[in-house]
Amino acid sequence: MADGAEKLRERIERIRERIDGALTAAGRSDRVYLCAASKTQDAETVRSAAPYVDMFGENRVQELTAKLAQNAYGGKPAHFVGHLQTNKVRQVVGSAELIHSVDSLRLAESIDREAQKRGLRQDVLIEINVGAEASKSGIAPEEILSFVESAASFSALNIRGLMAIPPKSEFPGQNRRYFETLFKLFIDIKAKKYDNVNMDYLSMGMSEDYYDAILSGANIVRIGSAIFGPRK
Ligand SMILES: *Cc1c(COP(=O)(O)O)cnc(C)c1O
Repeated sequence: MADGAEKLRERIERIRERIDGALTAAGRSDRVYLCAASKTQDAETVRSAAPYVDMFGENRVQELTAKLAQNAYGGKPAHFVGHLQTNKVRQVVGSAELIHSVDSLRLAESIDREAQKRGLRQDVLIEINVGAEASKSGIAPEEILSFVESAASFSALNIRGLMAIPPKSEFPGQNRRYFETLFKLFIDIKAKKYDNVNMDYLSMGMSEDYYDAILSGANIVRIGSAIFGPRK
């Protein structure tokens, strides 16, 4: 059975307090968006969390489509945070407010083409494979500048920032160095002032490490199990 709405509200309240604590510790006065990672959660559970989060992040196109059809997000924006195959781009462009996971030029081009066809501009983040893990998609840190330069030519693509999923850490604080690397890349790209590129969002930090991510400059954290409980 789904956790009760009251329990979700309390957990999210505690997360918000911890987010505020990290902002204070970092001496920051900007805001952090709480993106609830809602993969595998049913529409009813998602709807219960909707009043308390800023947006939802889905990993699977099918779940995004189904939950949108069920009005599960309660008017909150849906983001796409999973690996996106080019043959599913059509179902995501225009439905997801922000696609966090652009990990190849081929995908960027495909999103651009679909957005042009629909007469809209799609906001995206570039996913970085910050731990150079073979099992993960994403652009290598050393290739990100040339990647952004190429992707900037796609006129229906708004590049709004960076996203990463660092390696699973074995002890608290282990991912600090990855978060710092990402923040440096974010600042470097921002300084270049490419067309169609605005480094507004740095999406990093999950249930286990969002506090550290915020210390290093994250302004979107994607949190699943700390809100919904462990996934089955
Ligand atoms: C599942 C998921 C999350 C949230 O993970 P938790 O550890 O449950 O907080 C964040 N980002 C992505 C891309 C995910 O797939």
